[in-house]
Amino acid sequence: MEKIEFRDNLPLRIVEDLLARRKGKDFSDVLILLPNKRPAYYIIRILQDRLKTPFFPPHILSIDEFVEQTAIKVRPGFSRAGDLDRVWILFNIARRAGLFSDCTFHHFFIWGLRISDIIDELVLEEVDEKKLKNLPSGPVPEEVGALVLKLGEVKRKFFEELGRTGFTTRGMDFLCVADAIGKAIMLDEFNLIYVAGFFAPTRIEQRILDYILGLEKTVNFVQEEWRGWNFRNIFLHSGFDLHSQIKRVGEILQERLDPVNTAVVLPEADGLIPLLSMVVSGLGKEYNITMGYPLYRTPAYALLDGVMKFQETKVEEGYYAKDYISILMHPYVKNLVLEDGKEARAIIYSIKRKIEKEWNRAFISIEAIEKYFPEITEVHRYFIREMESVKTFGHLGVCFENILSFVLLRSPAGGYPFAGEIFEMFFKVFREMQESVFSSEEMQKEDIFDLFRYYVRNERVPFNGIPLGGLQILGVLETRNLSFEKVVVIDVQEGIIPSVDKYDPVLPTIVREFLGLPTYREREKVFRHHFMSLVNTAKEVHLIYRSGQKEGRSRFVEEILWEKEQEQKRILSKEAVKQVNFRVETIARVPPPLKKDSRTLQLLKNMNFSPSAIDRYLSCPARFYYDSILELEEKRDIALEPDSGKIGSCIHKILQRFYKPFEGKKVILKEEDEQILLNLVERCIREDFGEIRGDVYLLYKIAEYRLKNFFDNEKTRENWKILYTEKEYNNVSFPLPGLGRDVVLKGIIDRVDQRDGRIYIVDYKTGEIKKPNKKIKQALYDRKEIKAKIKSFQLPVYLYIYSRQNSISSWEDLNAEFYSLKDNKEDFLFSDEEDREKMEEVFLPSLASLLAEIFNPDIDFERDNEDEHYCEYCPYSGLCR
Ligand code: SF4
Repeated sequence: MEKIEFRDNLPLRIVEDLLARRKGKDFSDVLILLPNKRPAYYIIRILQDRLKTPFFPPHILSIDEFVEQTAIKVRPGFSRAGDLDRVWILFNIARRAGLFSDCTFHHFFIWGLRISDIIDELVLEEVDEKKLKNLPSGPVPEEVGALVLKLGEVKRKFFEELGRTGFTTRGMDFLCVADAIGKAIMLDEFNLIYVAGFFAPTRIEQRILDYILGLEKTVNFVQEEWRGWNFRNIFLHSGFDLHSQIKRVGEILQERLDPVNTAVVLPEADGLIPLLSMVVSGLGKEYNITMGYPLYRTPAYALLDGVMKFQETKVEEGYYAKDYISILMHPYVKNLVLEDGKEARAIIYSIKRKIEKEWNRAFISIEAIEKYFPEITEVHRYFIREMESVKTFGHLGVCFENILSFVLLRSPAGGYPFAGEIFEMFFKVFREMQESVFSSEEMQKEDIFDLFRYYVRNERVPFNGIPLGGLQILGVLETRNLSFEKVVVIDVQEGIIPSVDKYDPVLPTIVREFLGLPTYREREKVFRHHFMSLVNTAKEVHLIYRSGQKEGRSRFVEEILWEKEQEQKRILSKEAVKQVNFRVETIARVPPPLKKDSRTLQLLKNMNFSPSAIDRYLSCPARFYYDSILELEEKRDIALEPDSGKIGSCIHKILQRFYKPFEGKKVILKEEDEQILLNLVERCIREDFGEIRGDVYLLYKIAEYRLKNFFDNEKTRENWKILYTEKEYNNVSFPLPGLGRDVVLKGIIDRVDQRDGRIYIVDYKTGEIKKPNKKIKQALYDRKEIKAKIKSFQLPVYLYIYSRQNSISSWEDLNAEFYSLKDNKEDFLFSDEEDREKMEEVFLPSLASLLAEIFNPDIDFERDNEDEHYCEYCPYSGLCR
């Protein structure tokens, strides 16, 4: 064996050595063994560049590929167990050993993955079986601790069961090859072998490498140890969030960009999409991505998750409307082409409108939708009906495969960026689900869905970045044994770089040390070696971190700063780190004034003013303009959570139905009437909100409680007659002398009572009550003052309307009240005789002044944003910025 030390660019050094040893173009008897796969592509590319003619390439394998291929030769007929199979086998062994007995498979899954990895690690580190018998205890969950105590037995049974079913694991394959090498495996087919770039291999890897390194024909490329950082080439930057970091990446790449020799390193997948959209798309250069992107962050997963959620939220009353609309509005579904060749988009919007505007129900029936929109039946079949009968994990795999195949066939989804890699990965997952050993086990549907979610959490879409042209975007792991001239790394935070979790939920450090397994300290050493190699071999390095993070910048950044300070013999302050600044240009955008043009004045002229429209103007003229003049529809959500407006209407409906039979009669409430009222509460709530559960149950209970109290109060009333319920009045004239014509008023009065010979206008309130101040003595002419003091014209306007419609000329026998159902309290407009004078002296002239302002062409519709709370809930707030 020959040993060669190298410092940088391993692929280049290997090619130079190979070409120095070998003439000609046939390298098929050469084996190059590497710790990881990626440098192989660079070796081939450099060979192509150097030879410029076709050639027989060497065998370039990562140690994992070498082991997997060799194990198949040594033990044919065995295949690697997928995650699902190995965890299922382990689960059954654990259950038979009386462990995890309260756990269902989907709950065990995450633990199972971790435990089976640890069993493999015991093999890879050649841990003595005897040591597994007397393990020290550590801080782990009880069930896990019990399993760790039986780890030796579980491991033996696990491997026996895998062997019996024709499965292997990574650890089993390494063991098989390590035992066979030099006996059944001689590597005679190779005349030259390179072992290159290994650092801190596992014990079993070392056993395999020891044999190969013992051969005369082997060349061992070993990287010199790094002592310190090449800090003169390193530039530090700090951003305040992910986007500011990405912005800095863009600025760095703009300077002398040589894409092929530049690497952008993303330790976390979060940065990929912002990097592509904010920076890379604008460079106009080729790029290559080499990293694992979490499958659960893809749009296809969002669709499948939505389809599962839709099944999970189904109740007796039907499917949850919001979840149904979410599925339809997913871009893959919205853009489908239906059986008849028409685009689904138009039908989907019609369905959405029907559900939200016409039905306005929380729950829907699929059959009812199909009755109106038969074209959507095919979509329902794939996304809903097939899912209804899922009982096994294998069946879920079939349903999902059908859904994504349908999407690929009928929508442009296949043309979206990275669709190829994402869909391929999903189809691989679905195949594993269907072929897994427990694919036919019946489970609860919810458990099957959760298992899928856990399973997918661990899956990554492998972007393999071939060919190597263009800017390289890599994960940290993928940079091992590679060198670039320019390197930009983001998220250089503690906990991410180095990414070493100190906490092991199954084998705490004390147990790992006892077993001789690498602890977080050794893992950090390995990470440090590769990271220093990437950084120290580059000519220009930019490390970017987020300031103000809880975790702080990486310990590597601190070391680099320390080394810089040592050299300069002074403390480096802020100049050592470039801050990312966003130049914030405050554009004081003033929305245009809302003027009254002739069309607006004409609309006002023809308008019937309700008390709520008048109050809306009083609170904010602009809101009145958007609502009553432009008739912009408020964005209404369907009845998902009970909102206050809908609750109010439901309570009004209950009381209207309850008192309707008493209309025109003297009222004497009896005990049995209470039950009638309570039955109405239940019926109306069901009608308006669907099944009584969750938030609706809470609402029902509150409504029941309040209306019981209301009934108790009403029962005590004597000498009382109800004249009207929900009485509607239209075309009531209100003279406005300056206008030359009358203004028209309208309104619906909740209830009109006659009590002891007096008329009472009753307005039920479920929320906040706005009532005129008692102390006002004279008319007001300024809107803001009216708003502050009179607050609401509702009761005065109702009184006015009622008196006009019933030709009552005196206010003496009239009163009006807000009946608060929340506090079970009646709040009267007039509390004494003197108050009644205010109708003529205060309310009506103030109302006339406000209406005159509405019609005044010189007064714009002002945006009154004094009340932040009111603006916060204003549906038109977007038009005021
Ligand atoms: S956001 Fe405020 S100022 Fe604007 S219309 Fe609504 S209530 Fe008026």
